[in-house]
Amino acid sequence: TAQLDGKAALVTGGSRGIGEAVAVRLAADGADVAFTYRGEEARAAKVVVRIEALGRRAWAVRADSADAAAVRAAVDGTVERFGRLDILVNNAGVGVLGPIEEIAEEDVDRVLAVNVRGPFLAAQAAARRMGDGGRIIGIGSCMAGRAPFPGGTLYATSKAALTGLTRTLARELGPRDITVNLVHPGPVDTDMNPADGESAPMQAQLTALGRYGQPSDIAAAVAYLAGEGGRYVTGASIAVDGGFTV
Ligand code: NDP
Repeated sequence: TAQLDGKAALVTGGSRGIGEAVAVRLAADGADVAFTYRGEEARAAKVVVRIEALGRRAWAVRADSADAAAVRAAVDGTVERFGRLDILVNNAGVGVLGPIEEIAEEDVDRVLAVNVRGPFLAAQAAARRMGDGGRIIGIGSCMAGRAPFPGGTLYATSKAALTGLTRTLARELGPRDITVNLVHPGPVDTDMNPADGESAPMQAQLTALGRYGQPSDIAAAVAYLAGEGGRYVTGASIAVDGGFTV
């Protein structure tokens, strides 16, 4: 039997990129998987097909992470559909880069709402519904730990906030045997940061391995934290960044 047999997971932002890879990987490991998306229903439908092809139940729910009620409804809906919630992956995120003088106030609100407030509210809702042995896993960024080029202040501010959430919530939920961890990806080839993009050679050069990672590289770390092998890891920030932060 697969290691996540009988478990239920919710992945935010699971219709593309890293979130899609995480959703499919958790299903391959045996979990039923719900995931949120914001825009493209057709992309989400394709991920549902991939999960169901693995013999697991899937649920795609349109929920903007900036919308508190939608986030809570996604968590509660997962419990209603699958009868339980064992794994929450806070993956949905947005990046607005640029000189601090040029960042609009609306961008500040939007990035903090999606990258910080959404994960906080999802973790809060999950904490209310999760049983013993649950797992809460965030997706941060290597930009939270190193600033090798300018322009990332807003994005890094949002991602660094997740380290505080992770450590403190790990302490709070430890007595219930719920672990809380954070994975910091390096440059990963997705729509957000394509490996053939303008700044890609510069980003690749900043890693020790000299190349981009794949969404499945991040999914492997999430699967480890969600699985049996990760049961004694909590409050940790784990770099999966090709050595970007060394
Ligand atoms: P993509 O932009 O490729 O995919 C984002 C996914 O999240 C899509 O499924 C999208 O759905 C969904 N999404 C976006 N905004 C929202 C929202 N407001 N509410 C709900 N869902 C939303 O991003 P990546 O896969 O590259 O990034 C995933 C995470 O990894 C993010 O938190 C990002 O900050 C982080 N990260 C990425 C790195 C990289 O190099 N790619 C590096 C470090 C961290 P839809 O299509 O419907 O909008």
